[in-house]
Amino acid sequence: MREPAVLVIGAGPSGLMLAGELALAGIDVLVLERRSDQVLMGARAGGLHARTLELLEQRGIADRFVAAGTMHPAVGFAGVSLGMHDCPTRFPGVLALWQVHIERLLAEWLRELQVPIRYGAELVDLVQDDDAAVVTLRDGERLRVPYVVGCDGGRSTVRRLARIEFPGTAPTTSNLIAEARFTEEPTTLGIHRDAQGIHSLAKSEDGAHLRVLVTEPRADATSAPTLEELRAVLHAVYGSDFGIHDPTWLSRFTDATRQAAQYRDRRILLAGDAAHIHPPDGGHGLQTGVHDAVNLGWKLAQVLQQRSPDSLLDTYHAERHPVAAWVLKNTMASVLLRRADAQTQALRETMADMLGTDAARRWLAAQMAGLDIRYDLGEGHPVRGRRMPDLDLETAEGPRRVAELLRSAKPVLLDFAGAYAPIAAAWSPRLRVCRASCDSEWVLPAVGPVAAPTAVLIRPDGYVAWAGEDHELGVRSALERWCGMARTGP
Ligand SMILES: Cc1cc2nc3c(=O)[nH]c(=O)nc-3n(C[C@H](O)[C@H](O)[C@H](O)COP(=O)(O)OP(=O)(O)OC[C@H]3O[C@@H](n4cnc5c(N)ncnc54)[C@H](O)[C@@H]3O)c2cc1C
Repeated sequence: MREPAVLVIGAGPSGLMLAGELALAGIDVLVLERRSDQVLMGARAGGLHARTLELLEQRGIADRFVAAGTMHPAVGFAGVSLGMHDCPTRFPGVLALWQVHIERLLAEWLRELQVPIRYGAELVDLVQDDDAAVVTLRDGERLRVPYVVGCDGGRSTVRRLARIEFPGTAPTTSNLIAEARFTEEPTTLGIHRDAQGIHSLAKSEDGAHLRVLVTEPRADATSAPTLEELRAVLHAVYGSDFGIHDPTWLSRFTDATRQAAQYRDRRILLAGDAAHIHPPDGGHGLQTGVHDAVNLGWKLAQVLQQRSPDSLLDTYHAERHPVAAWVLKNTMASVLLRRADAQTQALRETMADMLGTDAARRWLAAQMAGLDIRYDLGEGHPVRGRRMPDLDLETAEGPRRVAELLRSAKPVLLDFAGAYAPIAAAWSPRLRVCRASCDSEWVLPAVGPVAAPTAVLIRPDGYVAWAGEDHELGVRSALERWCGMARTGP
């Protein structure tokens, strides 16, 4: 078998998205997955935030997810609903969709891109030298490849074998989550708080199963949970175990909060839960992993294609580590606010009052939705380092949206002044140069209206590397930094 340029370990959401991004950039990629197929037992993530939908829209696949889910016009923080009706995005809200369907749709996209996924393939060893990383699978097969990306979840074997530290906080609370048949009808469904923490009961769509989430009395369990443990907690909290039996799935999660000290060690990189874990409050985990993948894919491709120096890969850690650090902080605050004591109740109510003001609501909603991420790409226009708004444009080829220009994951220079095409010509055809006009107002989430720049250089991940008003030198150095070496010949 021909060995690929990149091995992606794990076919969860992060690995699938990364493999798609690499394939779009023309990289030979293979995904190795320990599971025997893509079917996921258990609920895990329940939806997609606005920025994740925008990233999928840039690749032309958001409509598949929207068609499979239900859009809700608000995000939540610690039980407070933050309306997104006035948020400047095409996806103002959260798309409710279970992770099993998210993975199924991403895997379908990979099939269309002809990316191979090998199921039942478990990485058990990993070493690297100056030229390659060498992966050993459980059946003894060895693969020698230029790069390995560990997208293998919170207990990442790649991270352990690469000896990348994973500092953070130990669990302070532990939850059991399950879906099971039941014989006794619960008197109340929904969320219930007590001194132990937060609990919830819900029925499955067909009414035949009970979906249970309970806080355990202790946070130090490390073994796989049992039905007996779940029954005991249900009895203690509700006075009944509702006769639950035959669980479809049963799992445990805690509020342990950890982040890899480095996202890269030479030829080994980490993305998704392998790089950061935190409790599910706010629904950030899957989103952050998909955003990691979109940040990393094109950079790895440019380095492999020898268009950019190896140092481009270091910007992956520099940009993404602070984003996940914010997510960890946000979830820690949210876990604290779960408490049922009078003081925490007072704090929750005070915070809810503050979040009732438009400015605070808009600010936190944009952050929760991943729309206010700003990479440190230099000073200048306020859009620099932020996501490019999906504006309606007039181009020589007719009306286009910005997201449509990013379908092939190439950088785009949008030239509103007609002044930059001669400079950008040296990066053609790897750079898409588009002369355009735009009548829409530029409004950035959490920032508000900003002046329209004369041109923008948009990276393949949809973030603005440079915005006009700077002089010619600005655009040239941004092109060199983010689009690789210019063509020297005609
Ligand atoms: C109860 C719960 C609720 C959640 N709710 C939300 C939510 O609402 N929103 C949200 O965004 N996130 C949520 N999350 C988090 C979300 O599920 C994760 O962040 C997401 O699955 C991470 O994706 P990943 O691809 O990085 O890792 P994973 O989904 O963990 O995928 C890793 C993959 O790697 C494979 N693998 C592991 N080791 C190996 C190996 N050695 N060799 C080969 N393959 C390997 C695994 O089988 C797995 O398929 C929730 C999580 C839980 C537990």
